[in-house]
Amino acid sequence: MNASGAKLFVSRQTVLPDGVKAAVLLVKNGKIEAIYPCANDNEINDKLEQHSNVEYEDFGNLLLMPGIVDSHVHVNEPGRSEWEGFWTATKAAAAGGVTTIVDMPLNSIPPTTTVENLKTKAQVARTKAFVDIGFWGGVIPGNQKDLKPLVEAGVVGFKCFLCPSCIEEFPHVNEEDVEKALMELRNLNTVLAFHAECELKDAIDKSKGLVLLITMIYEDPSVYHTYLQTRPEIMEVNAITMITKLCKAYNVRCHIVHLSAAEALGLVREAKKNKLRLTAETCYHYLYLTAEKIPRNATQFKCCPPIRDESNREKLWRALKDGTLDMVVSDHSPCTADLKQVGDFLSAWGGISSVQFGLSVFWTEARKRGFSYQDVVKLLSSAPAELCGLEKKKGALRVGMDADFVVWDPETRIQIEESGILHKNKLTPYLGEKLYGKVFATVVRGNFVYKDGVFSSEPLGQLLLRDDFSSAI
Ligand SMILES: [Zn+2]
Repeated sequence: MNASGAKLFVSRQTVLPDGVKAAVLLVKNGKIEAIYPCANDNEINDKLEQHSNVEYEDFGNLLLMPGIVDSHVHVNEPGRSEWEGFWTATKAAAAGGVTTIVDMPLNSIPPTTTVENLKTKAQVARTKAFVDIGFWGGVIPGNQKDLKPLVEAGVVGFKCFLCPSCIEEFPHVNEEDVEKALMELRNLNTVLAFHAECELKDAIDKSKGLVLLITMIYEDPSVYHTYLQTRPEIMEVNAITMITKLCKAYNVRCHIVHLSAAEALGLVREAKKNKLRLTAETCYHYLYLTAEKIPRNATQFKCCPPIRDESNREKLWRALKDGTLDMVVSDHSPCTADLKQVGDFLSAWGGISSVQFGLSVFWTEARKRGFSYQDVVKLLSSAPAELCGLEKKKGALRVGMDADFVVWDPETRIQIEESGILHKNKLTPYLGEKLYGKVFATVVRGNFVYKDGVFSSEPLGQLLLRDDFSSAI
């Protein structure tokens, strides 16, 4: 950038709120200062001449969109940094066109359940952020008095589990715990997000439970279907039934993370019809992968809730189209290869790594189903930004917003190869896949953090916390 801190970004396909157009964007001090839609190259040249003292970047016909906001990422650092870390996760995000990640409160040690713990995490993150990072706080039994201070420190909202998280430091909550948390959150303009699966023993009756137990003992754990039977749709349906009831009773914004079971969509639809403050996300893997095609032993496909069958997948796509589902996120949740216990779906760690490839995974399927670039922006950028209270800064190309962009070619195909994977652990179900959409550059607050295979020489991301909290760490 020049001394004025200004720069121009030019694309003949800029995804603006009112359409895809040629445009010149003037960026100053990290924000979009002006947007000049242009009818043709002459108008573009005129604009460049009018700003002849300002450096410019012309992306030709590449698509310029708001950067992706991935509101569901497990970074795991500190504590489980051999699983993933801020340096690798944010580099992978930058290479995938993601300009903001929001870190989940669990899998790191400590979990983000107190302000002290948030401080510990933020201290580790702040020198390793290639993209901007927000933080979810966690609701666990007994920490309701920690929630207000966490909101004041700047967490985007809270997440809780309604079934065991498999992480000792992050126990799940029951209905009574949720009510205590909602009482606290009532006056705090924030959101409570739920891992919406209730415990299996509460979802099915005893006779079915016995059958299932026999299944788990005698059926082949190297076959995906054996695992699928242990997380039936009813676990999601029952959890979402409870969530909608509590959302109505307390009138606190509630959010369902990683909805997988199409059977639960009716409940979300009904809640929205009744104007409840409820949103729901699904993930790239539920929209791309199907249970029928998961090979024997391929535990890199295991996640919770599970990937279900082809017809379920199509219902999720329809729910995205009709607005029942609000957004798509990665739930990037890696672990070391040994924990994937190759060959045993029942004991393997559940979690899929995909923060780097979300845009291409999504677009490969979305383009076949008539989704527009505007839809991509809504589902991958503006809706998650709004969920996290970042809508005044992130998720759209408007004057005054942060200059966060992804520049990409939707028609070029990429093949996922291990050598190109930037997450710390390379195990991913997308290995070998040929996908539509190649990211050319990623810009965070006016700075290139990734361009044509090269990263910024230092991490330029910021922590999205309250200023007074950030300056104290
Ligand atoms: Zn998750």
